[in-house]
Amino acid sequence: MSETLETLLDESRTFPPSDAFRAQANINDPGIYERAAADPVKFWEEQAEALHWFERWHTALEWNRPYAKWFVGGKLNACYNCVDRHAEGPRADKIALLFEGEPGDIRKISFRELKDEVSQTANALKSLGVKKGDRVCIYMPMVAELAITMLACARIGAAHSVVFGGFSADSLAERTNDAEAKVIVTADGGWRRGHVVPLKKITDEALDLGCPTVEKVLVLNRVGEKAPEGTTMTEGRDVWWHEVVPQQSKDCPCEPMDSEDLLYILYTSGSTGKPKGIVHTTGGYLTQTTATTKWVFDLKENDVYWCTADCGWVTGHSYIVYGPLSNGATCVVFEGAPDSPDKDRFWKIVENHKVTILYTAPTAIRAFMKWGVQYPQSCDLSSLRLLGSVGEPINPEAWIWYHENIGGSRCPIVDTWWQTETGSILISPLPGLTATKPGSATQPLPGILAAIMNEEGEELYPAHRAVNEKPGEAIGGILAIKHPWPSMTRGIYGEPERFVATYWSRFKEHYFPGDGAKVDQDGYYWLLGRVDDIMLVAGHNISTMEVESALVDHHAVAEAAVIGKTHDLKGQAISAFVILKTGQESHPDMVNELKAHVAHKIGAIARPDDIFICADLPKTRSGKIMRRLLRDVAEGRALGDTTTLADPGVVNSLKNQYEDKES
Ligand code: ATP
Ligand code: MG
Repeated sequence: MSETLETLLDESRTFPPSDAFRAQANINDPGIYERAAADPVKFWEEQAEALHWFERWHTALEWNRPYAKWFVGGKLNACYNCVDRHAEGPRADKIALLFEGEPGDIRKISFRELKDEVSQTANALKSLGVKKGDRVCIYMPMVAELAITMLACARIGAAHSVVFGGFSADSLAERTNDAEAKVIVTADGGWRRGHVVPLKKITDEALDLGCPTVEKVLVLNRVGEKAPEGTTMTEGRDVWWHEVVPQQSKDCPCEPMDSEDLLYILYTSGSTGKPKGIVHTTGGYLTQTTATTKWVFDLKENDVYWCTADCGWVTGHSYIVYGPLSNGATCVVFEGAPDSPDKDRFWKIVENHKVTILYTAPTAIRAFMKWGVQYPQSCDLSSLRLLGSVGEPINPEAWIWYHENIGGSRCPIVDTWWQTETGSILISPLPGLTATKPGSATQPLPGILAAIMNEEGEELYPAHRAVNEKPGEAIGGILAIKHPWPSMTRGIYGEPERFVATYWSRFKEHYFPGDGAKVDQDGYYWLLGRVDDIMLVAGHNISTMEVESALVDHHAVAEAAVIGKTHDLKGQAISAFVILKTGQESHPDMVNELKAHVAHKIGAIARPDDIFICADLPKTRSGKIMRRLLRDVAEGRALGDTTTLADPGVVNSLKNQYEDKES
């Protein structure tokens, strides 16, 4: 990479919070940034006070780079904080989980009921031999019992490792073995677009591959008689949920856990290669997920909060289970897909349950744009008051579409940047304070020190700076976080060297998240895509995000992925893969029109050398574009690791089409 990242996209639209929103917001005093910056450790201690501790910590932070310990000596239980303290107070009859299955079945579980069910599940796990310190692998559909199992593990001090229910037997076996899980909790099947995903069968295949640490398999009866043929139970190993859980006592004390005890392991989504078993502990993680949920989503007592992620990803851990429930929120849990039975499914859910806060991903928003506005327009979305985005940079056009068509131009949008490794949101607007700009995650949250670095590891935009200091001109480079934060990962499970090599070797002091970023003249942060994906064109570093956003800005384009393809003269040439909106036809001049559009929008330097119009893009199971596979396609190489792809067929057919075009 050369010295800095070019900054091309210039987005000048701003959206300040309305006076009415500001007045009611949880955070509407801008002084919070200064207070936090003055003494971040003290600031995080204040946030930790919001939790229930069995014993208070004696030391707020022990920092031994790269290992942090927060709230040392403190004792607490995450399940107690998310369930019991609400079940025993005025929220006892408030709905905690509002579950909707794909076939339309609905279950409303109050905090009181949740406490009973979590306790019974915890006792069932104990009866299967699970003890404090053990690991439990959870491979379930997105049903209420998934969250219940996570909480049951936390209750008895066992760590969970949730494996997304779309993964294959190989992936499940790999993750189960890496975590050395004693028990797998699964289901006979889960619903996906009207079909049954045969989870138990896949679990059996995984066990056949060899999972020596697994002693028992607990199986939820989700699809019943629709269970695919070959769903069998192995005597002595497999037990049905309905035969062991409801019989258990509803009394199961919460294990007092050390603040630094393991809460869970979670494997990253695998956009860049072999997944990493990211480790999170209890006190710091729960402190920061609890605080950020309240600030960023402006969560209030009467909200109906819906995060559309799956609990197989960190977003489901931090912003479906731990953060919202710790705050006593009503959370929607949805099993299905946005286009089943029809493309208005999300909007029907918003209308039926009067959802007030919706948190989803750019990949979903771009799919909604592609399908057209008639779907959201056919439903009443007036209950919504705040929207969120996570997972990838959101292109400004997608942001505007979301704002207008889902948010009715009245809801603030929080674009939240964070990672499995960071545990909670680090860069995001505070909706009552921040004037948002489409495509920018805006500012580091209070208590977070984020710098922009150059290749040499020098701060181009310092982490420590006066709160209102603005750079005056845009600065592009590599994002880095300086000071430890409570929910930061405590390591890669069993791989200490990889942990240091991946995150702590690039810079001497800072944490290296692997993402490119710029700050604009106003001090707003723009995430520019992964450092590994950044293109070097004729000596200029160009971000994938900016070129993609310029393409999506064209009225006919729904989605775009851009890569740097090896080029004799320029080093790399910009190669784009473009999906058109439903109803848009390609015409002979389309490619030239799109190239000209990019050149006009962000400059001739970013004009793509070639554009390939396609029907689909390779994505991870969490919906992120895998650019490294597109580079393999464009450069005619054998495809790299495809095990984390949602649909390997997409990239194979893309490869064939691309090769036909080239020849
Ligand atoms: P792997 O690390 O295995 O390649 P992954 O990085 O996709 O997988 P996650 O931890 O789920 O796994 O994703 C975090 C990454 O997602 C971030 O590093 C960033 O690249 C991207 N990301 C998340 N939210 C945003 C956002 N709001 N804006 C821009 N990028 C985002
Ligand atoms: Mg990552």
